[in-house]
Amino acid sequence: MNASSRPDPSSWRNMIKHPKRGVPEGLWKRCPGCQQTIFRKEAEKRLGVCPECDYHWHVPAQERIRQLLDDGTFEEWDEQLRPTDPLEFVDKTPYAERLIKEQARTGLGDAAVTGTGMIRARRVAFGVTDSSFMMGSMGSVVGEKLTRLVERAAEQELPLIIISGSGGGARMQEGILSLMQMAKVSAALARFDAAGGLFVSVLTNPTMGGVAASFASLGDVVFAEPKALIGFAGPRTIQATIRIELPKGFQTSEFLLEHGFIDRIVPRQDLKSEIARTIDYCGK
Ligand SMILES: [Zn+2]
Repeated sequence: MNASSRPDPSSWRNMIKHPKRGVPEGLWKRCPGCQQTIFRKEAEKRLGVCPECDYHWHVPAQERIRQLLDDGTFEEWDEQLRPTDPLEFVDKTPYAERLIKEQARTGLGDAAVTGTGMIRARRVAFGVTDSSFMMGSMGSVVGEKLTRLVERAAEQELPLIIISGSGGGARMQEGILSLMQMAKVSAALARFDAAGGLFVSVLTNPTMGGVAASFASLGDVVFAEPKALIGFAGPRTIQATIRIELPKGFQTSEFLLEHGFIDRIVPRQDLKSEIARTIDYCGK
């Protein structure tokens, strides 16, 4: 690393204080794992994993598709589905305006992308939720896209792979319509399971709330990326409710593996091979 080509700390420190997901930030980035300044290209070459400490950065949905599916094989489903604002919900900003901003910033219609593609020449039904779009929360569109994905996987007898990156859980701006999605996707998964389908669920940082409490936890095989935050309510909420000190490492992949909640921790570089191997083991 050439020290003289490092950027002026005063300029990048500002960017790090307010990192905006989905927006390119420059040649360097600070690793939240080891606090080192990392050459962005180097991190990208390692699929968004820190070369110094193996910290796993957020990966946008489009990039996740490039990383996991064979080149040029992805065909998107239900791309045209767009969220509406049936409750005319207003918090700090009207929901309708918030949606337009999020769509412009991320290039996504909503927080999930679904479709079909190949993983090492095995055809799969593939979905990914992206925490950069309203925390990856599950509103009607995310729920509907995932439900259709599961139903098509059943019809076409495809292995189902869903990568979850959702810090938001249910989307409060859609109220009860958002909460219904948990039951809807779970019911579709139950039918898929009864039909003998294979569902590999991959939990990434963060997978929380209604997403963790529905489809993300329902995999036949559940993988997680290292050190991902996975849980239902946040640790502060839990601590305030039960008034007991939470154990060390609570709600991390490693803690959940130890307690039997997930099956395996898979580093990002191994994820594609590991999914392909699972499909083969299960004879799908
Ligand atoms: Zn690092």
